[in-house]
Amino acid sequence: MKYLIVGAGLFGAISADFAAKQGHEVTVIDKRNHIAGNIYTEKEGNINVHKYGAHIFHTSNKKVWEFINQYAEFNRYTNSPIANYKGEIYNLPFNMNTFNKLWGVVTPKEAQEKIESQRNILKGKEPHNLEEQAISLVGTDIYTKLIKEYTEKQWGRKCTELPAFIIRRLPVRFTYDNNYFNDLYQGIPVGGYTQIVAKMLDHKNVTVKLNENFFSKKEEYLNKFDKIIYTGMIDQFYDYKFGNLEYRSLKFETEVIDEENFQGNAVVNYTSHDQTFTRIIEHKHFEETNSKKTIITREYPADWNVGDEPYYPVNDEKNSILFKKYKQLADEEINIYFGGRLGQYKYYDMDKVIEAALDFCENTIK
Ligand code: FAD
Repeated sequence: MKYLIVGAGLFGAISADFAAKQGHEVTVIDKRNHIAGNIYTEKEGNINVHKYGAHIFHTSNKKVWEFINQYAEFNRYTNSPIANYKGEIYNLPFNMNTFNKLWGVVTPKEAQEKIESQRNILKGKEPHNLEEQAISLVGTDIYTKLIKEYTEKQWGRKCTELPAFIIRRLPVRFTYDNNYFNDLYQGIPVGGYTQIVAKMLDHKNVTVKLNENFFSKKEEYLNKFDKIIYTGMIDQFYDYKFGNLEYRSLKFETEVIDEENFQGNAVVNYTSHDQTFTRIIEHKHFEETNSKKTIITREYPADWNVGDEPYYPVNDEKNSILFKKYKQLADEEINIYFGGRLGQYKYYDMDKVIEAALDFCENTIK
């Protein structure tokens, strides 16, 4: 059969690989000028630069881990971000190192008592907004220095105006452990992510066309192909007929610096309003490199308007209801399938995209 895959990101590439192995004839198009979607990395000098923000692979799913390891060797990178609040440095996620620096406490019991005493300001009442929710989880000091202004930058709104559900849980640990993720497996592919997608697309029966927007020839594509796997925005596919889904966007500002080591860590979050960016990524700390220079990227949260890069879906009630309407249309399609973060309007980590794509392929591509 003739398959068209819209989007050369992780979901599209896994589907292409699978369909090609089943003997189908596959065309993959992407409107960008490169493959790999948001996991795209590009070698600049001797450094693999994560072009769409820091991407750290982590999973507890052994099947997913073994699957991705077929395409690259992973190093033992462990995500241990730090927070910079007005020049004070704190370990993340919130753990005994953070509590010791904040309050001088040494034992978990002392830290728990400190948090408990700060929660009391809510007098046991149900949290009504993000500020109250955060205080109820970690107390006032952590909220003030490490959550409040960072979250306000991220969402472009005051914490008192944001719903409590955004942070149902916060990673809090009463051990001296700076590993951000609890997952069994974690790492960065040696040589970057793009090679993974390139290998997935490397089949005689797969044709890749870049700079090709599905909507420039939608009717032609619908007529020409037996099956379409679409990983673009679901509302755009239906011409926004019920209105457009909302996103948060990001702007990246990358700089080459003539220094060997700029910040001593791959990820530093800036948690005060003093800077308008939320974090600085120093790419060379993800992988071994002998580069004498360094490359950093400042990440600025941005409002999203139609036409901007959509990064984070806004999973509030209004958008969830709207998505359900589009999903109903999608479910009625016979030869068109919607996948990936934009097709499903869902924030998916890479492991979850792989899980969903493998599940989709095994059940649908015969
Ligand atoms: P995408 O990678 O977005 O691929 C979709 C592709 O479709 C894109 O290339 C797009 O150009 C193309 N497309 C869209 N519309 C059209 C059209 N009309 N015509 C042609 N092509 C089209 N996950 C982790 O596990 N760890 C992390 O540390 C992590 N960090 C992240 C940081 C940021 C800033 C972001 C935004 C995401 C992060 N993720 C992380 C999530 C990860 O990026 C996603 O899981 C993954 O990229 C999703 O793959 P996808 O194929 O669904 O979507």
